Amino acid sequence: MRLLLATRNPHKLREFERLLAGHELVAAPEEVALPPETGSTFEDNALAKARAVALACAGPAIADDSGIEAQALGGAPGVRSARYAGPAASDEDNLAKLLSEAPAGSGLAYVCALAFVDPGGDERVFVGRCNGRLAPAPRGDGGFGYDPAFLPDDGPAGLTMAQLSPTEKDAISHRGRAARALREWLGR
Ligand code: IMP
Repeated sequence: MRLLLATRNPHKLREFERLLAGHELVAAPEEVALPPETGSTFEDNALAKARAVALACAGPAIADDSGIEAQALGGAPGVRSARYAGPAASDEDNLAKLLSEAPAGSGLAYVCALAFVDPGGDERVFVGRCNGRLAPAPRGDGGFGYDPAFLPDDGPAGLTMAQLSPTEKDAISHRGRAARALREWLGR
């Protein structure tokens, strides 16, 4: 199926191209404005982005909203993960803030809400989670965002998400789980 992807994040685009191989994935045109992520849940934000693109481009669209929840911080940064250290924060800034605020070894969860919106009215959200722990210091240069400090429970012992191959990350990641649920619902 031809699916428009509502994201400006090149890392996410690359991951979805792998995860949804077999479908034709098209990045939403630059001129389509994506709504600000002002919802209080991953589901709300993902749906708002997918609706905007489906409407503007008159075709089925998908969008994900994702982030990291730290147990020691009551679930923060959550939906604010991309802007945790400030409105213009880089991945490195956000990672440094998490490492300074949550203790090494404390529980983390990556969450991904993946919304599918058909302009005909069909809407679905698939949620994937990946549990893990905070590493004492960043390690590895794969992935993006908080990956260098995320020790996934389901991964090879002692390795951060940034030390896994793309295939290993896809097999256990929040985005991989949500994308596989979408694939199954789409019929492949
Ligand atoms: P948003 O979905 O565009 O709001 O951004 C999600 C933010 O959560 C990203 O900027 C990253 O900081 C973080 N994030 C989401 N998924 C991942 C992942 O797979 N690895 C590392 N960080 C992630």
